[in-house]
Amino acid sequence: FCPTGAISEVSHIERLYTAIAEGKTIVAQTAPAVRVAIGEECGVAAGEVSTGKMVAALKALGCNYVVDTDFTADLTIMEEGTELIGRMQKKWAAAPEQAEKMGPMFTSCCPAWINNIETRFPDYLDNLSTARSPMMMMGSVVKTYFAKKMGIKPEDIFHFAVMPCTAKKGEIDRMQMVTGGMKVVDAVLTTRELGKLIRKHHIDFPALPNQEFDSPIGSSTGAAVLFGTTGGVMEAALRTAYEILAGKPLGTLSYTPARGLDGIKEASVEIPLKDGPTKTLRIAIASGISNANVMMPEIAAGKRNYDFVEVMACPGGCISGGGQPKSLDPKIIEKRQSAIYSDDEKAKLRKSHENPEIQQIYKEFFGEPNSHKAHELLHTTYADRSTLVRGPDGEVVEAPDAGD
Ligand code: SF4
Repeated sequence: FCPTGAISEVSHIERLYTAIAEGKTIVAQTAPAVRVAIGEECGVAAGEVSTGKMVAALKALGCNYVVDTDFTADLTIMEEGTELIGRMQKKWAAAPEQAEKMGPMFTSCCPAWINNIETRFPDYLDNLSTARSPMMMMGSVVKTYFAKKMGIKPEDIFHFAVMPCTAKKGEIDRMQMVTGGMKVVDAVLTTRELGKLIRKHHIDFPALPNQEFDSPIGSSTGAAVLFGTTGGVMEAALRTAYEILAGKPLGTLSYTPARGLDGIKEASVEIPLKDGPTKTLRIAIASGISNANVMMPEIAAGKRNYDFVEVMACPGGCISGGGQPKSLDPKIIEKRQSAIYSDDEKAKLRKSHENPEIQQIYKEFFGEPNSHKAHELLHTTYADRSTLVRGPDGEVVEAPDAGD
């Protein structure tokens, strides 16, 4: 943040007003971390989950449909989990020296981390999951599958995302995200901007009745809501990847080594393969870009050896993103994180592959995870941007700010 408040995020609110005035069909999506923080902007106690009121407020503001980024968090697990399983099967089949050279797979849902790796550590671009972030997957799904199901022309849809994140405003403009010549997410409003809109339109947020997300892309699992905090993508991915590889569920669904607010967490997961021996998956979680920047050179030097690494640029993950409400409460991050964990624990379904709407979209549209169509709409590519910041001898002299 700018410490004086002189610099703030570029507002996309006018884009929304223009689209409403033009008579577009307005489709909003909301990220996991927004539901545990929007209440702080609107008279609800910190740490309360306000999902139903948030949906109702968006409808009151003029949205025709409100869909859940958690749905595409589940979709991300299907795509990224399948990618991880494929990479691990190759790694486990390789000679040990060769396997170590392959390095870990990194998560790809945080755009500030993507900016960081493209500018500072481009040698590892092939190790990034190619899965788009849940927000960008939702954009693709809204303007293809959802548009078709609802009988709306994609060009008549204005699709915006409510995010805890200022870096997401840049992510929607990445040229690799243009799909079929179309921008799939038209605007990003931060949690604070949504709060501002709710107050401006005098919506009595605490008194709103709870409303449900719109189907068929509105249902999600406990695994998906975990994306809102550090370690959550890892925990969600393990629930699905373990079960597919071992043919039985991970012993405990709440995987404590991935939980909490430590800067770097690591663990080894023993996986008894259903058709072979027991294998080890070495995982790590970097919370905050400075911890990733400590970890990366040590991975390159062979001092840290992992198979799967989650990086979130904000310490604590998206619950403390640059677009979240500002708070003077020293325990605010813990409160938001507890709300995420409790939302997961209360969920009827807690594993992404069990989401019936996810099963439906594969049956009706994508075929199977990592299919040709899934690659076209749900995956992306990366670019080495380190040359922008290399000195005369090729050394990195300065890198652009990673985001928030
Ligand atoms: Fe955005 Fe921060 Fe979440 Fe990354 S960790 S997606 S920068 S809010």
